Amino acid sequence: MYTLDLSGKTAAVFGVANRRSLAYGIAKELGKAGVRQAFTYQGERLKDNVAKLAGDFENSMLLECDVTNESQLESTFSQIKAEFGHLDYLVHSVAFAQKEDLEGDFVNTSRDGFRTALEISAYSLISMTRFAKPLMEGRKGSVVSLSYLGAERSVPHYNVMGTAKAALEQITRQLASELGESGIRVNTISAGPVNTLSARGISGFGKILKVYEERAPLRRNITQEEVGTAALFLLSEMGGGVTGTTLHVDAGYSTVGL
Ligand code: NAP
Repeated sequence: MYTLDLSGKTAAVFGVANRRSLAYGIAKELGKAGVRQAFTYQGERLKDNVAKLAGDFENSMLLECDVTNESQLESTFSQIKAEFGHLDYLVHSVAFAQKEDLEGDFVNTSRDGFRTALEISAYSLISMTRFAKPLMEGRKGSVVSLSYLGAERSVPHYNVMGTAKAALEQITRQLASELGESGIRVNTISAGPVNTLSARGISGFGKILKVYEERAPLRRNITQEEVGTAALFLLSEMGGGVTGTTLHVDAGYSTVGL
């Protein structure tokens, strides 16, 4: 496969929980291209686990950051500035909704559940980008986040996460329009279903995988690696003319009518 040389470039990667995480698939591609990466973990309990994963990548950094905590976000980016001096790429691969909000009826979504899902899964892209912007100035910075078809269509049980993903995709367009003059691009990947920890929290996830296999034009599900290579395209200058876009990496499923 074609290999890019991005040595000298740096990335902040949010959302590596284990080796199945989509963020880990993106980190693998960035790592192969020689990008130096900072990884974050959410709280002491998860530190050792993410530290092991960060150890898979040469010269990486590990930082604590719960994306609901503004001062941790600020400190994360100031430590990245101190260590890397600048930032080229930002990967937002973070989402959360309360379990009951992914199981019950959407009409019963609580105010608290709505706020939690939107704050962690969508607002965080705004605050991360705000802190990343000064580190990216003059460097053709690029931001990539992860969305899902539930942003555009109703999907059983996806509920408030669909609302959060719709917000994430609009935030992507709005940030792209504002940051374009600084040469910073902002895009999101709308990924097909991949068996990860978060995905297993969605009721009926196994059925979703099966439906894609039967009906997507490619008659299969996508892989973690395919999300990684698409992200590499969008982050690097290969995708230099692309911004504000939601790129579907879904074996074509979203293009099918009947
Ligand atoms: P994952 O491995 O479980 O990753 C989700 C990440 O979000 C975890 O690292 C989790 O950290 C992090 N997170 C949750 N709340 C956080 C908070 N308050 N602060 C910081 N981090 C927090 O699952 P994934 O499937 O790779 O998900 C990554 C992204 O891809 C999500 O945006 C998801 O919606 C999107 N996506 C997934 C699929 C799919 O089928 N897998 C399809 C389309 C889009 P902890 O483990 O520490 O909680």
